Amino acid sequence: QSSRLLHPEDTIIKTPHSVIGGADLVMMAGPCSVESAEHVMAMAKVAKQGGATVVRGGAFKPRTSPYSFQGLGETGLQYLRAAADANGLDMITEVMDDEHVEMVAKYTDIFQIGARNMQNFSLLKAVGQTNIPVALKRGMSATIDDVLNAAEYIAAGGNHQIMLLERGIRTFDNKYTRNTFDLGAVPVLQQLTHYPVIVDPSHAVGEWDLVTPMAMAGVAASASGMIVEIHDDPTHALSDGPQALKPKTYLKMAKQAFQLHDLM
Ligand code: PEP
Ligand code: MN
Repeated sequence: QSSRLLHPEDTIIKTPHSVIGGADLVMMAGPCSVESAEHVMAMAKVAKQGGATVVRGGAFKPRTSPYSFQGLGETGLQYLRAAADANGLDMITEVMDDEHVEMVAKYTDIFQIGARNMQNFSLLKAVGQTNIPVALKRGMSATIDDVLNAAEYIAAGGNHQIMLLERGIRTFDNKYTRNTFDLGAVPVLQQLTHYPVIVDPSHAVGEWDLVTPMAMAGVAASASGMIVEIHDDPTHALSDGPQALKPKTYLKMAKQAFQLHDLM
């Protein structure tokens, strides 16, 4: 079902404010975590200014340490929904647990499956039972075939509105970059599947000053869109501050990305 051989035409996902996988570059931006109602509202406004049609924000955070900020939970979903609606944006947020799928579905336009959950098969099956688009992040040690099989778990349940997110993988050298951005995976996934491929330069490199060049590289590699983390005060961000673009940097990057996309 996911295979291009069985389904030659591109999958185009339509959400209230976005067409993902069509001719236009889709911009998704927002803070790593939903921190407060006011903060996510302000960041959604910035996202929109840069041409985003989707605002991101985590309410359930898969943190490496159990002592790190875990997210605001359902309250965070409410804040993000309000920020999306006030700015005429779609909302994407991570769902971490199959038991939360029904609750997150009440708020979100797109489910994000995090890298750490790419092979959480009960979660994949649960979102596969819904009719809400799913953004499946590549696991940090997942091969391309692992990604394809994970997507198949969602599709097998009847939900074919899937987009694949390249967010970098672990390699032998991640001293200067948080992960290794596997740019080659973008055209490969486009050849092998009919799903839109989105790049996540923020998690791929983990340092804000490396995000713009890698975002451009993702556009040049013909990604259908990107998802980037933004924050107005990165040093005090509750998660992933080092990789957050400040509003001004984000606006400049987004403008360049749309310009580059227009040239292609
Ligand atoms: C995130 O999007 O904030 C996130 C936790 O991403 P990943 O699952 O790619 O690490
Ligand atoms: Mn993050």
